Amino acid sequence: MTAEADLLILGAPVWTGDPARPWADAVAVRGGRVAAAGPEREVAALRGPATRVLALDGGLVLPGFADAHVHTAAGGLELAQCDLHGVEPEAYPATVARYAAERPEAGWVLGGGWVMDAFGTAGPHRSVLDAVVADRPVLLESTDGHSAWVNSRAVELAGITRATPDPPRGRVERDAAGEPTGALHEAAMDLVGDLAPDPGPAEWEAAVERGQAHLHRLGITAWQDAAVGPEMLAAYRAVAERGRLTGRAVAALRWDVDAGAAQLRDLVEHRRQGTLGRLRASAVKIFADGVFENRTASMLEPYLDGDGRPTTNRGIGMLGPEELARVVTALDGEGFDVHVHAIGDRAVRDTLDAFAAAAAANGRRDARHQIAHLQFVHPADRPRFRRLGVVANAQPYWSCLDGYMRELTLPFLDPERAGWQYPWASLRRAGAVLAFGSDWTVSTANPLEEIEVAVGRLVPGDPDAEPFLPDERVDLPAALAAFTSGSAYALRLEGQTGSITPGKLADLAVLDRDPFDPAAGPLGGVRVLATLVEGEPVHADPALDLG
Ligand SMILES: [Zn+2]
Repeated sequence: MTAEADLLILGAPVWTGDPARPWADAVAVRGGRVAAAGPEREVAALRGPATRVLALDGGLVLPGFADAHVHTAAGGLELAQCDLHGVEPEAYPATVARYAAERPEAGWVLGGGWVMDAFGTAGPHRSVLDAVVADRPVLLESTDGHSAWVNSRAVELAGITRATPDPPRGRVERDAAGEPTGALHEAAMDLVGDLAPDPGPAEWEAAVERGQAHLHRLGITAWQDAAVGPEMLAAYRAVAERGRLTGRAVAALRWDVDAGAAQLRDLVEHRRQGTLGRLRASAVKIFADGVFENRTASMLEPYLDGDGRPTTNRGIGMLGPEELARVVTALDGEGFDVHVHAIGDRAVRDTLDAFAAAAAANGRRDARHQIAHLQFVHPADRPRFRRLGVVANAQPYWSCLDGYMRELTLPFLDPERAGWQYPWASLRRAGAVLAFGSDWTVSTANPLEEIEVAVGRLVPGDPDAEPFLPDERVDLPAALAAFTSGSAYALRLEGQTGSITPGKLADLAVLDRDPFDPAAGPLGGVRVLATLVEGEPVHADPALDLG
């Protein structure tokens, strides 16, 4: 006789994500693992006197989402700071003023979430912040994390004047007279950022738990934290040691471009310390370039000037191609999964070249090397993902005609390159493993809102929008797979999670509607009723009876 189940989930279709048996109508859980998924009669036979039953009234059961690229700890920190995400740009000054007034004791006003397309290419001006906070320094990161907006007090404290040179790999935005405007890009952010107080260990630990709770509410059971410094890793460790890490976290340890090869030893040690419970510090994150909107993405051909004329600017490669290959080869040789941020087509090509160099030097191993963002991929480079075994770590929410695309991207491009953007369907057709991630807090962490853009390539909430490069749409099963089995593969979790398959861990999400039902409405409006890790709820709608 089969042993009885701890939990049965009945009453809603089950999208298993298992290609051998994609649909079921019930799931049984025993000992934290999927005991059965199949016809209701078969699964219900596992019911015993102590079995809890989650009786649903429609909706959909699916594997818990895995976010392949998200900033959980930093996002959790931001949730407690001056948060401009989702705030209308006209309301930025009032929001900053209110936040500062509520915290008279705080020396600095720190926060972020402002959008670049509210200000044009010059970025925001310090005078706007001076009007609401003049006596204390203000430092606000853009939602993409690649620029900062500071007030005059911060400029003064940092000693930035018209005579200050741009630091390597960064730019101080200046007005026509050469005066700093208060917008700082890439490495120039550190001119002010290095002066701001760092959060202490308790703040970071609270941030990890706050970020985790945010993701669980959205059906996410595993994630890759895409740039983890030593202070964040210590917080993850502390939370894991207390048994409070309920999600599966892969920490991608941050590679410091200025620290050189000497940091390799430290990273190996951090991996050893950072592997306990559901935490695994097995990846390293490298920035190959910046972002297109501030002209720091590394491009094969120069940017245009907005009137269609070529400039001499090809962006900023954070490491030269030789150094990138050297670093990637060394990390690969130590058994790390290398996770590279690459936006421009040159950055993507240099990174693929680096992975090829690593394979040539070390031999091919079962690595989960990956390139995140992939805004511009030259068509000749698409088949190389499969050939080199490189995961396409994609942020589907960006693949639409939003303000960033219309105002800050398309005017600076020729039509040919404009058509190479976010090629999710092409990469899939070329045999790449597609793994979806949010890049929260850059964008929403809600996988269903992101999937809505992946399948429609439409600006969310705009009924008149036109699809952006519609040939690059992926269908719903492919999008769900990219957010479950695809991202589980990127996290080395595909043997344990990513599909509802007997024997795998019962990491599950329960939706209030079935997104496969055309009557369900926009995907982004579908809500998560419950999130389970090993069969135990880590989020549950109060209305739900979990037995
Ligand atoms: Zn990121």
